[in-house]
Amino acid sequence: MTLILPFSENFFFMLKVEHIGIAVKSLETSIPLFEKLLNTACYKMETVESEAVATAFFQKGETKIELLESTTENGVIQKYIEKKGEGIHHLAFEVADIAGEMERLKSEGFVLLNEVPKVGADNKLVCFLHPKITNSVLIELCQERKQSANENRQ
Ligand code: ZN
Repeated sequence: MTLILPFSENFFFMLKVEHIGIAVKSLETSIPLFEKLLNTACYKMETVESEAVATAFFQKGETKIELLESTTENGVIQKYIEKKGEGIHHLAFEVADIAGEMERLKSEGFVLLNEVPKVGADNKLVCFLHPKITNSVLIELCQERKQSANENRQ
């Protein structure tokens, strides 16, 4: 079935909640916990050096859970946990065109934490929005990187 959207700009819009990021103190204890909770195995672990974070991914339906553990004493996740404790850290929306969506959100008054998309975990280009504008919810935009052979959209 082909989905025909009435407005071309809809292609820039957020497509779905891609994942929910959860800050944890220890992947070693949280991975088995979430495997039990979701009744599904962690399918990928990945360290993002630039963000000083180790991640673990779970998939349920179309949505993923991303567990985040700091790899350094003063990393962003470590600081977050010291301030707020473990818990939901960010909501990530998949976008079809991250540059277009960043432009749109900027023009709507949102504050981007990075002015150009950066490489995140899970083969994604990402951009974060400042939570002071978004009711204290850290929002991530993410777009699949188009370098692999797999360019299929779901
Ligand atoms: Zn994320």
